Amino acid sequence: MKKKKIKSLLIGLCRHCNKQLMNTDSFVSFADKKSAHFNCYKKDTEQQQEKYYANGRKEEVSLF
Ligand SMILES: [Zn+2]
Repeated sequence: MKKKKIKSLLIGLCRHCNKQLMNTDSFVSFADKKSAHFNCYKKDTEQQQEKYYANGRKEEVSLF
């Protein structure tokens, strides 16, 4: 029986929550060599989309 050892390496700090990001976490890397937890990235993207839609609604309302 072979034991699989996963070495956890510190990737850096998450650009969203500023907590330590390990290679054992699911994470995303960006073009500027920064990384983030996948969950943080997902949350942030969803929030940005909500903002976008909110702004769209505001603009729509001001038009009428
Ligand atoms: Zn994070």
